[in-house]
Amino acid sequence: MAETPYRPTGGRHHVVVIGAGFGGLNAVKHLKGADVEITLIDKKNHHLFQPMLYQVATGLISAGEIAPSTRQVLRGQDNAHFVNGEVTDINLEKQTVTANLDEFERTFAYDSLIIAAGSGQSYFGNDHFAEFAPGMKTLDDALELRARILSAFEKAELTDDPAERERLLTFVIVGAGPTGVELTGQIAELANRSLSDAYSNYGTSAAKIYLLDGAPQVLPPFGKRLGRKAQRSLEKLGVDVRLNAMVTNVDADAVTYKDMKTEEITTIAGATKIWSAGVSASPLGKLVADQAGVESDRAGRVSVNEDLTVGEYSNVYIVGDMISLNRLPGVAQVAIQGGTHAAKLIEAKVDEESTANEKEAFDYFDRGSMAIISRFNAVMKIGKTEITGLPAWLAWLGLHASYLVGFRNRFVTVFNWLGNLVSRDRGHLNFTLQQRDARNIINKANEK
Ligand SMILES: Cc1cc2nc3c(=O)[nH]c(=O)nc-3n(C[C@H](O)[C@H](O)[C@H](O)COP(=O)(O)OP(=O)(O)OC[C@H]3O[C@@H](n4cnc5c(N)ncnc54)[C@H](O)[C@@H]3O)c2cc1C
Repeated sequence: MAETPYRPTGGRHHVVVIGAGFGGLNAVKHLKGADVEITLIDKKNHHLFQPMLYQVATGLISAGEIAPSTRQVLRGQDNAHFVNGEVTDINLEKQTVTANLDEFERTFAYDSLIIAAGSGQSYFGNDHFAEFAPGMKTLDDALELRARILSAFEKAELTDDPAERERLLTFVIVGAGPTGVELTGQIAELANRSLSDAYSNYGTSAAKIYLLDGAPQVLPPFGKRLGRKAQRSLEKLGVDVRLNAMVTNVDADAVTYKDMKTEEITTIAGATKIWSAGVSASPLGKLVADQAGVESDRAGRVSVNEDLTVGEYSNVYIVGDMISLNRLPGVAQVAIQGGTHAAKLIEAKVDEESTANEKEAFDYFDRGSMAIISRFNAVMKIGKTEITGLPAWLAWLGLHASYLVGFRNRFVTVFNWLGNLVSRDRGHLNFTLQQRDARNIINKANEK
């Protein structure tokens, strides 16, 4: 006989939230004083501040600063209960969610459901590229990238063959959106500044760093002027920016691309390849869209109603990177404001005295976009206002430090940034073989 789905005792309205990222965590926090019990389920045991992953990947800060334990974050919230498990099934008719952690599985009954499972890396149907060009979506990814980048520098110290050293010192980043630009800028700073005199047999400033994108400009969402500015700044750092470059193959030794204008095929030999070119929404989106009879787009994003509910299911909300609504971008603010919006509507439903509109449309407020290029240099766009250089850089630092979860993390991060400004040292240039090799070894073992 099937087990009765779990719900907390006490009979209060039970809200299940899937995902402790920006959308899910903000929804849970907003419901702190509400007359509900919340079960927050995440396959990871930590909340992740993705916009600063590139700083972990390049040794500026440690993993813990951007990935606090979700259980600790919610310690002060009595109506919230955290479950570390991967959601494998959602049944909209039965109002249940099933999650497991290895051999342990549990099914939860919900009254309201918020789905905020975010997105993963997309290789546009070329998943075999992943082995050679990891993306940067998780802490595992960032630590693996750090290990690969530093390992390449270490190996270059051990060869006298100029061609092999050149291959080891060639870094190819695919995707010139904010993630690709920020990572590229930091790898250039590692080579030109932090590690410039660290090796005996060569200077790291000999590193060749390529940034490729199929689009005709860097940072497309920022507009042409800021895109050109960012490109020039990267080129000043020694980065070779190649646009209209559609990547057609990635293997252990090289990246091959086709120039979209001339049709010319070019292969760049390089040991370290990084993929930051595409995203696809969590597969839970399609699972729910199929049950609700609504569409999901090519990137797996679900067409939601204006109030963020799905189809006829007025108690099921989807927020953040998983939604397709009014061309909203996949950025943190869409998730944060969406999570808060869903929580407000649930609060309005359970509070009998509330006069709030339970079906109020989600009204996104655009707070602008920003990307760091290098020390003292960033680009920022708020509405029609464009800011560059030092003011944008200071704004980026201030805003991102303030959004980190927990005072300790903010303090330590700012301390690490100051340390790097004053001494050019980075406090986290360590790596383990486990970080560098484990994912591919595990994947190969699973294939067998
Ligand atoms: C490297 C990088 C840099 C970025 N930089 C910026 C930036 O500068 N500015 C900006 O605005 N945005 C930035 N973004 C985008 C921003 O981080 C996302 O838009 C935002 O995180 C989306 O929030 P979310 O709640 O939808 O998903 P997420 O924050 O990704 O959270 C999803 C959560 O769901 C969990 N989950 C997924 N599947 C399951 C499952 N089956 N079961 C249980 N749990 C599950 C995940 O573990 C995760 O914790 C960046 C993203 C990346 C990857």
